[in-house]
Amino acid sequence: MPVANGELIRAINQFNILNTIRIHGAISRIEIAEITGQSRASVTNITAKLIQENLIIEKEAVGTSARGRRRILLILNSDAAYVVGVKVSAFRISCAVTDLQAGIKSSIIVPVRTSERSEKYLADLIEDIIRHSVEDARLRMDRISGIGIGIPGFVDTRSGICYWTPLFKKGNYGLKDIVQKRLNIKTYVENDSNTITLAHQWFGEGKGIDNFIVVTIEDGVGMGIVSNGQIYRGSRGIAAEFGHVVVDPDGRPCRCGKKGCIEAYVSNFSILKAATAAIKEGEWKFTTDHGLKMDDVWSAAEKGETALVNIFKKAGNILGEGLSGLIQILNPDKIIISGEGVRAGDYLFGPMQETIQAHSNKELYDTTQIVIQKWLDTDWARGAASLVLQELYKSPLNKIKPAI
Ligand SMILES: [Zn+2]
Repeated sequence: MPVANGELIRAINQFNILNTIRIHGAISRIEIAEITGQSRASVTNITAKLIQENLIIEKEAVGTSARGRRRILLILNSDAAYVVGVKVSAFRISCAVTDLQAGIKSSIIVPVRTSERSEKYLADLIEDIIRHSVEDARLRMDRISGIGIGIPGFVDTRSGICYWTPLFKKGNYGLKDIVQKRLNIKTYVENDSNTITLAHQWFGEGKGIDNFIVVTIEDGVGMGIVSNGQIYRGSRGIAAEFGHVVVDPDGRPCRCGKKGCIEAYVSNFSILKAATAAIKEGEWKFTTDHGLKMDDVWSAAEKGETALVNIFKKAGNILGEGLSGLIQILNPDKIIISGEGVRAGDYLFGPMQETIQAHSNKELYDTTQIVIQKWLDTDWARGAASLVLQELYKSPLNKIKPAI
């Protein structure tokens, strides 16, 4: 076994200190020494270097210590680096510029159809939107440390290859390389649900938790799984395709080509289809001159429209069935549900909770916390930005050179 050299040990110590400050927010040098097990002298030396490099800054704590002395805490310098997150959906592109702690400096949502467009056309759009957002954040392009792009489908983040996406017909989509070349900034592409999972792990509900699951409900149903502190990717990097687990082989057709997938019942897209069918069959009396929208469906369900309550109930039961299977297998601490689809509220999540409880063993059910996350429009783009941020923070043991 090779012996770690002094430089690597210093890099690991530095990573541990930086990570401790990130997790705790504001912390003293003495506390850092206690948590990391490093000597006070080592913490003093390394933090001095980090302050010199402008990665962390000193902040005076309110009040004094027991001995009446000023307490100096260390915090991350959020403005030490900036990144861009882009989320591509079928009918819009969202973009956010964030600082080192995923704080949003500027954001934009462009309602534009991306599906069935050429990759060159899409790259043009992404380039223009990124340049606009960076200018909006009053930054220069050379201050941007990386670009993260989230897209739905089967994406291998290591190679940037997209094997399948509902957005485009053909696979092997080379978006990562095109955008990277155009802007000359390191670019990462990841499944959109994994980007949200990363955002939760680093800055949200999953902070400090080693085992959790994120479910996103939008036009598709996505999932990210964190197991032992790592995103679970499987053999080809495309694991956690929860939305395309078949629950009824003779069921509704799914966008992936199979029948009876979870997504074909739970996604906004399929709820809208079921609601349209209910109108046609006279189960729901509704007229509109703008075409049925999810907002119409959510509001009518809130008023107790029976046909819609039943559609959401079926979706909730199917979602609950799928999740109880995962609870049994993975025993997660938390399941975080997010995405625009959380607007359905209790009509969807009531039946889901009941099914999960009925289908899971008590010992497993009792230890799994289910969090329905309030959704913000900027969440997707912030998630994509987290894809770059985790690279910036990464441990030197991961052999990826931190860009900061
Ligand atoms: Zn499917």
